[in-house]
Amino acid sequence: MARHVHIIGGGMAGLAAAVEIAGSGQRVTVYEAGRACGGRARSYEDKRLGCRIDNGNHMLLSANDLVFRYLGLTGALDTVGGPSRPVFPFVDLEKPKQWSLELSSGRVPWWLFNKKRRVPGMHLKEALSLQKILAAGPETTVSECLVPGELSRRLLDPFSISVVNTPSDVASAALLASVVRLSLAKGGAACLPRYPREGLSESLVDPALEHLKIMKAEVRTGMRLTALETIEGRVSSLSFGDELVEVDRHDAVILAVTAPVAAALLEPHIPDFQVPNEFESIFNAHYRLETSPVPFGDFREAGFIGVIGGISEWIYLKKDLISVTVSAASRYADRDPEELGDVIWQEVRQALNPHLATILPEQPLTRRMVWEKRATFAATPAQERRRPGARTALSNLALAGDWTATSLPCTIEGAMKSGHEAVRVLGLRGLQV
Ligand SMILES: Cc1cc2nc3c(=O)[nH]c(=O)nc-3n(C[C@H](O)[C@H](O)[C@H](O)COP(=O)(O)OP(=O)(O)OC[C@H]3O[C@@H](n4cnc5c(N)ncnc54)[C@H](O)[C@@H]3O)c2cc1C
Repeated sequence: MARHVHIIGGGMAGLAAAVEIAGSGQRVTVYEAGRACGGRARSYEDKRLGCRIDNGNHMLLSANDLVFRYLGLTGALDTVGGPSRPVFPFVDLEKPKQWSLELSSGRVPWWLFNKKRRVPGMHLKEALSLQKILAAGPETTVSECLVPGELSRRLLDPFSISVVNTPSDVASAALLASVVRLSLAKGGAACLPRYPREGLSESLVDPALEHLKIMKAEVRTGMRLTALETIEGRVSSLSFGDELVEVDRHDAVILAVTAPVAAALLEPHIPDFQVPNEFESIFNAHYRLETSPVPFGDFREAGFIGVIGGISEWIYLKKDLISVTVSAASRYADRDPEELGDVIWQEVRQALNPHLATILPEQPLTRRMVWEKRATFAATPAQERRRPGARTALSNLALAGDWTATSLPCTIEGAMKSGHEAVRVLGLRGLQV
């Protein structure tokens, strides 16, 4: 009988693991607690806005090899898009200025020497910050590496907050360094911004589910794992409320749920099991307009703009929908979301009007604020130490999830890396592509 691989959790980590092994002779079942797969990267119909939205804007980079492998395997490569050059338009609302950062495509950072392409007002000596980040030890925070100046204020600090979703004064510089190594240090060709043309689910969920169906893998939604039983150091059964699923001696389990859920399920079976237990939120403000604004210049090419000196960080325009991301948003937790929505809309108008054929209205047609309270774990050195590896004390159980020890921050690439690692430590047959 074929080995049965049970994957608990249908987020990016669980789906990436399923896509890797489906069709390679093993029986694969994904159990997802929710009504739909996707976890923290999903699209849904929003009644108030009257359209489909993503739970939050997600930016990918051309350096995200595992994401692109997944998109390739699931036939979804053409569902993501982005500019043809590594161009990042910015606006500073505090010290008014607009510019476009345009990285050099090769490894040599010529852009740092070109006043038209680099961060305005920066001095070359500030580039030392990047060296300090790359050399950072496990206890160093990002702020400790940042040389004061415009390169830090207008690029490195906001870049870090978006990447690790944690304020720089407490964020792990080593974690940021892992992304710098994969992106900036490789040059602009690795830093092409990429995002779903339509929505997260249309790129990262629906094509994967279609692929899994063709590969005869089963995906069961509405299946919440409530407990697991163990015998002789291995998982022997899985309880989904009233339904009990036996796990045969040769079968394997990948637990790709969130960190708190994994801790609750494994506490009775693995003594001293630790996971990250502090979290950071991300706030997204979505504004629907009566008509689709017409953008021009680099904003048109990029599809987004970075904002410095405001609450907003990234503003995306998709037809008649403007979506704004605010990372490390726990600092705004005591603010009324509707009041924040007003402030952010004024920032949007200030930032976008110079890049649009007609100016934005005083008020949008309608809007929706979405807080993801536990968007990621707080990427501090102390939390970093709590990330467990994929291998567990239970011989047929591996962990996956962006919170496991991937050496990457909580990102889709990190989640997918964890799925691959779970497949590897369980010795499962993957696709050789
Ligand atoms: C607002 C926001 C913006 C983000 N922006 C970016 C970005 O720009 N770029 C980027 O790369 N990343 C971004 N991220 C991070 C990225 O979304 C996550 O790293 C990734 O989606 C995590 O995937 P995961 O599979 O590890 O976890 P999850 O998505 O949390 O998946 C876990 C799954 O397990 C299910 N589950 C939980 N308990 C059970 C149970 N008991 N039984 C069965 N199933 C269960 C859950 O329903 C869920 O579907 C963002 C995240 C948020 C929230």
